[in-house]
Amino acid sequence: MAEVLPKTDDEDTEGFWKAAKQGRLVVQKCTSCGEARFPPHPYCGKCRKTGHEWIDCSGYGRVWTYAFVYKPMLPAFEAYTPFPIVYVELEDHPPLRLAGNLVATPDADINSVDQDRVKIGLRVKVVFRDRAEDVALPYWMPVE
Ligand SMILES: [Zn+2]
Repeated sequence: MAEVLPKTDDEDTEGFWKAAKQGRLVVQKCTSCGEARFPPHPYCGKCRKTGHEWIDCSGYGRVWTYAFVYKPMLPAFEAYTPFPIVYVELEDHPPLRLAGNLVATPDADINSVDQDRVKIGLRVKVVFRDRAEDVALPYWMPVE
């Protein structure tokens, strides 16, 4: 599948991509007030200070909302329609949320989860797939 891959050497996001390459899901934590944040951002939304560290997440979350894609922006995804896009709230850092694809197994296609199974509240776990030398993308897999 031809994908548009993220830029991994961006000042604000490279910590996320380095951890992803190691199979770790991380979010930023403000070194001034302790607020966790995602997506990565140059300053804290709570106290406006710039310092941050990267903290590991459990990798578990629940589908907060979802939509099925029938007409993808990129032609390479047409073969997989309809497929769900999920917005996952992190179990250990609510209300932080990540958008992504849902997969039945770590290597399955993005349309591999039965449509009837895709529901708000579905518990999921992050899995990472290597997509390039410096890029591993997070996907979400249902867990019981
Ligand atoms: Zn702060």
